[in-house]
Amino acid sequence: MPALHVVAADEADWDAAAREVAHELRARFATGSTKTRKWRIKQLRALERFLQEREKEIIGALRADLSRPTMEAIGAEVGHPLSEVRLARKKLRAWMKPERVRTSATAFPGRSYVYREPLGVVLIIGPWNYPVQLLVVPLIGAIAAGNCALLKPSEVAPHTSTLFARWLPRYLDPTAIKVVEGGAQQTKALLEQRWDHILYTGNGAVGRIVMEAAAKHLTPVTLELGGKSPCIVDTTANIDRAARRIVFGKFYNAGQTCLAPDYVLVDDRVHDQLVNAMTAAIREFYGDDPKQSKDFGRIVNQRHHARLVKLLSSGETVVGGEIDAAERYIAPTILRNVQPNDSVMQQEIFGPILPVISVPDVDAAISFVARRPKPLALYIFSNDKKQQERILERTSSGGTTINHVWLHFGVADLPFGGVGASGMGAYHGRASFETFSHRRGVLKKPDVGDPPILYPPYADWKVRWIKRLVS
Ligand code: NAD
Repeated sequence: MPALHVVAADEADWDAAAREVAHELRARFATGSTKTRKWRIKQLRALERFLQEREKEIIGALRADLSRPTMEAIGAEVGHPLSEVRLARKKLRAWMKPERVRTSATAFPGRSYVYREPLGVVLIIGPWNYPVQLLVVPLIGAIAAGNCALLKPSEVAPHTSTLFARWLPRYLDPTAIKVVEGGAQQTKALLEQRWDHILYTGNGAVGRIVMEAAAKHLTPVTLELGGKSPCIVDTTANIDRAARRIVFGKFYNAGQTCLAPDYVLVDDRVHDQLVNAMTAAIREFYGDDPKQSKDFGRIVNQRHHARLVKLLSSGETVVGGEIDAAERYIAPTILRNVQPNDSVMQQEIFGPILPVISVPDVDAAISFVARRPKPLALYIFSNDKKQQERILERTSSGGTTINHVWLHFGVADLPFGGVGASGMGAYHGRASFETFSHRRGVLKKPDVGDPPILYPPYADWKVRWIKRLVS
């Protein structure tokens, strides 16, 4: 059965199509067979095969959508989902097993358990910047937990969206996992339906639309949003290493990474050294003319290109600044002398532009970060362990890597998600399974005896007894 390609003339048709697909998935979930471990394992294996056998198509789609270098396509969009799917397969039996917990005195005698049950039919809405990984990894959690799922790839990465619609139904159970392609209008129609969970990845403005729609049905949401993720660099950091790591993390996927360092706060005393080392790292990685480099991507579309070009007027350009609208190219750029109210500091950059802001000391960096919305990530470059802990304690972010960029993302035992403006909820590894499961508390009482102590009439001795029990 092919993915749902609805060619709809107007809104009413979209609404009807969305209603129909939600209805089909709900009927499928009601059969109960997606709850079995056998079904889950079969789907996880099939997803693994999809990633392995369609690697070439995935790389091709990412090249067409984002000029993504093969190394980045394999690492982020095939390798990471593969490690997640293998982990889920390996751990599924243990994750599914009811978890025995302590039984409190009031419920004695008895045995208490947490059962994980699937939520039902879940909606996963993906963005364009890591268009494979950000649909597949949530899907792994949804399947592992025994749900039916509807995937909505981003229309901004059309080749990848088509790839999903074309290939996924040939691997996965198409009655339980469906793909609907489309943009804002189609997503809005889907959001009108009742889902048992929505996992949305993208910008915060649409995040609010998703949450509002979910509220109508009391549907829980996981919102994986973005924000301005800072790097703090102090005087104890190894500046050359920090520079290479920041440049790598920033210009990967041409800066279009939710976890990319958005800006750098550097101690005045090592500012020039860091800027020079980052400039050298750009040359080392991408050559004298990064436009010729196979290892540097392009901006996803003209709208984002035009938005980014406007940000280039902030501060003073140290390196980069060259653009080519026809190719949607923006050179890896470092800006210095950037002021907090410059336009580049007013929005998540999401492109290859790195502002560097000099601060007198780490305390100034901390208060700069603490005054702003909580970011998805915060990176600390410091070899002073006390300083690292102080920064952790006085700031908040979705996650943190110390002395590197975004590698915490790949640690399967670390929940990945935002906080405050950067999102709510988390996934990856076991956290994905938990996100798509309901933790059902189950008390099992032996069916023996029935002391009258709980039941009316409430004689004084019973009150004395309950007081003793609870005090
Ligand atoms: P996008 O434009 O692809 O939008 C995301 C999804 O929302 C798409 O599927 C799109 O069809 C849908 N959508 C767009 N407008 C809508 C509307 N009006 N109503 C309903 N649905 C709508 O992607 P984007 O938002 O540009 O993605 C970039 C943002 O996502 C950045 O802020 C980035 O930091 C964030 N992001 C976060 C993570 C994370 O894991 N936390 C990962 C990647 C990207």
